[in-house]
Amino acid sequence: MMKVYAVLGDPISHSKSPAMHNAAFGALGMPCTYHAFRVRPSDLKDAIYGAKALGFGGLNLTIPLKEDALKYVEPDPIAARIGAVNTIDFADGITGHNTDGIGAMHALEDAGVPVAGRNILIIGAGGAARAIAFQFGYSGGDIVIANRTKERADRLARDVRGGLSELGKTPSIESIGLGAIPEKIADADILINATSIGMHPNIDATPVPAGLLRPGLAVFDIVYNPRRTRLLLEAEQKGATIVEGVRMLVHQGAEAFLIWTGREPPVDVMVEAVVRELR
Ligand code: NAP
Repeated sequence: MMKVYAVLGDPISHSKSPAMHNAAFGALGMPCTYHAFRVRPSDLKDAIYGAKALGFGGLNLTIPLKEDALKYVEPDPIAARIGAVNTIDFADGITGHNTDGIGAMHALEDAGVPVAGRNILIIGAGGAARAIAFQFGYSGGDIVIANRTKERADRLARDVRGGLSELGKTPSIESIGLGAIPEKIADADILINATSIGMHPNIDATPVPAGLLRPGLAVFDIVYNPRRTRLLLEAEQKGATIVEGVRMLVHQGAEAFLIWTGREPPVDVMVEAVVRELR
């Protein structure tokens, strides 16, 4: 019988997940299908329990459901501390995971950039930055969080420090305002834009002046529309290693695929499907 998977969110029509996962199921010849459903927060509990009752294989969650979902699932230790779930598995109860941080880490690893032991400057302190900071700190990176609203960076740094120490990890986690980036970037091995700066239609915007970019720095922009942001174009010109946001989008999905199916995800097929959708 066909196994059903789904992404829930509101809005949801923009989601690239159905194309990405259906391409993966097709490539591996698996009898599975993946759909998008618009679900409001007030219906989330019924939707999760209903999917479990109907024998769905698993769910992805997107805005605005990721935080609320914690009430209805058994989260893994990282998702519990991030405070958000983007993947639900029904194999053993209803378990919740957050694959955004792992997806970001695998995107960098694809480009030959490991996270452990590296100095990582993350710009942004929203939902995506939160998942990345927790995962990268957990995986042995030392983190500086830079945000326009400095208090939000301070709060995130405090949360990450506290959450990771409960898991026996004590990386260095610092918070700064955007004005301190020029000073901190000199020590960074990896720069991550985890804000919406540079996203369509504001494609002329960039979070870091080109003059601060250099060879030897890995520059990862999680914005994926456009695929090559101004930050990435300028980083490439300066001889930095660049990583596109589309790789994170695919790898967070690939990690969910692995959790649900135990099969090695066909990442290249998934990238092709997402790129086709973005066009
Ligand atoms: P969010 O929770 O709303 O956070 C937005 C962040 O961007 C905040 O840190 C905010 O700073 C900062 N920001 C926004 N406009 C800014 C500006 N003009 N100048 C300086 N800082 C600004 O959003 P999110 O969910 O973390 O998503 C952030 C971006 O990542 C979006 O573009 C999203 O599409 C992308 N994303 C990509 C992936 C992927 O798989 N590639 C996954 C998730 C998200 P303040 O705190 O000061 O407001």
